[in-house]
Amino acid sequence: MINVQDGDAIILMLEKENRNALIVIDGGYNKYYGKIKRRLEEVLPRFGNKIDLLVCTHYDNDHLSGVENIIEDYHSIIREIWIHKVEHSLSEQEKYLNQEISRLQESKDDEKSIKEFSAFDSMDFVLEAYKDLVRVVEKIRAYGLEDITKEATRGDFLAGFEEFSVISPTKKYYDDYLEELKDETYLNETKALLLEHQSEDRSEFAMPKLTEIMEEEIVASNPCEHLKKSSKGVSATNMVSIVTLLKIDDRKLLFTGDSGIESFTDQGLLDKNIKDLEFLDLSHHGSKYNTSKELLEYFNPETVFVSAKNGKNRPSKNIVRCLNEKRTGDNVFVTNKNFDTWYLKYTNSKNIYRVTI
Ligand SMILES: [Zn+2]
Repeated sequence: MINVQDGDAIILMLEKENRNALIVIDGGYNKYYGKIKRRLEEVLPRFGNKIDLLVCTHYDNDHLSGVENIIEDYHSIIREIWIHKVEHSLSEQEKYLNQEISRLQESKDDEKSIKEFSAFDSMDFVLEAYKDLVRVVEKIRAYGLEDITKEATRGDFLAGFEEFSVISPTKKYYDDYLEELKDETYLNETKALLLEHQSEDRSEFAMPKLTEIMEEEIVASNPCEHLKKSSKGVSATNMVSIVTLLKIDDRKLLFTGDSGIESFTDQGLLDKNIKDLEFLDLSHHGSKYNTSKELLEYFNPETVFVSAKNGKNRPSKNIVRCLNEKRTGDNVFVTNKNFDTWYLKYTNSKNIYRVTI
């Protein structure tokens, strides 16, 4: 897991007797791309200079903007891409995003509503986010990667590597969210991002009515009982994040993207596949809105990683305390707190090695 602050960039190196696979899950913000490239360059030769799979969990900049760089630099060696196409056609998606950019540039109402979120150049920030998305879609098309791009849903797996499969969303869940995804037009998500930037870096501008960005209240006891029970308010884009599972015999490693509580409960996904995990990548950089007590009880993870800046609310202090209640010793790690990059090595002997470079 590469430290990309409140974003995700994960490199999986899978090796078995007759096959190996290099998988990249998300690319973080593009400003951290140098870190990803450095790691990729180190490991590519071991994997025959190919990226077997690039997973874009969802259309948010903290996951997707670095993907543009990955595609730019490695398009000729990427074998497969999993991404949500929203409009079911990348050309329509591109057209739609461009329309949205023009609309935003012309709309005084939007400009006003965005300005409320911050005292600095928030409109530019929003437009940049859209432009990043357009470029990713354009690149997939320009490099002729549409044929290897798949709208991955539950049950899909990496060919020749069934151990790596999609847990969520189901096709139906995704389709049910489709209208909302279109309506959402990324604007709400970008606004939410602005709020976070503002609360972390520019606290003097934070508005008290925005309870979601206020520091989480630390409860005196039973932190698990105080966790959220619903992800109401979490964006549709996040809720349909591509959640993947690496399952080797009875050992399970779950990668959650920014999925929410109902992503699991509404689809009836709390089954033995994701019970008693060896490794959990805690959803949405540890946001309190995305993980419930029920989920944690089900996952019952041995080791938890959070890809986050370790700011005020990410990861949620109560989630970390709840996780710590069950374990002795440190089993919750935050990328920006511990080391710059983590290499975790899981072997047949069930040992986990932590290698820092
Ligand atoms: Zn995210």
